[in-house]
Amino acid sequence: HIYLDNAATTPMAKPVIDAMTTQMAEDFGNASSTHWFGRQAHTVLDDAHQVMANSIHAKPTEIVFTSGATEANNTAITQTAHARAALGKHIITTAIEHPSVLKPLAALEQEGFTVTYLPVDENGVISLADFDAALDDQTILVTIMMGNNEVGSVMPIAAIAERLADHQAWLHVDATQAYGLLEFDVHALGIDLLSVSAHKLNGPKGIGFLYRREGLNFPPFLKGGEQEMKRRAGTENIPAIAGFAAAVKLITPQEKADRQAKYYGLKQQLMQDLAISGVDFKVNGQVALDNLNHVFNIWLPGCSTYAMQTNLDLAGFAVSGGSACTAGSLEPSHVLTAMFGKESPRIGESLRISFGKDTTALDISKLATAIAKISTRLLAKHAG
Ligand code: PMP
Repeated sequence: HIYLDNAATTPMAKPVIDAMTTQMAEDFGNASSTHWFGRQAHTVLDDAHQVMANSIHAKPTEIVFTSGATEANNTAITQTAHARAALGKHIITTAIEHPSVLKPLAALEQEGFTVTYLPVDENGVISLADFDAALDDQTILVTIMMGNNEVGSVMPIAAIAERLADHQAWLHVDATQAYGLLEFDVHALGIDLLSVSAHKLNGPKGIGFLYRREGLNFPPFLKGGEQEMKRRAGTENIPAIAGFAAAVKLITPQEKADRQAKYYGLKQQLMQDLAISGVDFKVNGQVALDNLNHVFNIWLPGCSTYAMQTNLDLAGFAVSGGSACTAGSLEPSHVLTAMFGKESPRIGESLRISFGKDTTALDISKLATAIAKISTRLLAKHAG
């Protein structure tokens, strides 16, 4: 079986498993305990705060570990909206955010907040003119993803942050997909809140962090003990945090650039292989070096997503029909709908292929051959 669904999740790297095993087998202490065992655990926690902080050029005290990006997004949105409601009740986001952003926003709308959903173009990118038109003196929060999980588009975060420099609105960025591939500096950019998840970068599942700029004041989402400097209650998951830190140490700025270049090459190769095999396809979104190159979304006219994905699965290829989070629901992709309109045939006939650090050129040529065979069969069935 060949795994090409790395935007859904990634396999854990060997140093990650080693770090976690050590923590599980030996250093089992509660990081809040003051005895030797607790201090051992606390050292791991402190080191991990530093590793995360370094990776985005923040301070260790600005990092709060969470159970993943879902919790970080829920916290950044719900808690800040509630804390700042007296300043205004308007929030700006995009039409193509992850459900862990869209659902908390929908709940806030029920409570009387107003949310502007910025549209995207056929490349999956918002326009700054739309953003400027939406921003007003009631806006308290702007929540925009750095890069999209279904099509890999990258949003103009720097330009948005610049526009918010003298504005009351806080800027939250869901960097779940982008963090493993793009190098950025949250302070230099002017980002107030940022969400990250470990399992997208060969780390463990169920762990992530929320960066919250020093000075932002809002209450914790999970209430209870005084862990994480009173910002997130609950005994810290030290094995997962140690694994997360090991994963982050692997993605040096050079490694991120190398992966971006490698994935861009794989994308070019796949387009070429598909074309040579005579496959009729169109790319959903843009093929550009500065996109998130691990995500590749294509339209295969006449081949239903479901048929193509299940046939590829039988042939030994794990790809996705959209995002894993909505795969079970048979709902049409809200991302492709926002890009192409709800009548577009692309919505039921597209495939997301996502590369990982271990993906090879051979995997890609095998995949192209399989797609060619299956699409010929599916299209013949239609014709017949
Ligand atoms: N945001 C984006 C853009 C994602 O791709 C994901 C994972 N599919 C999440 C948030 C949720 O992350 P987690 O699995 O850590 O809850």
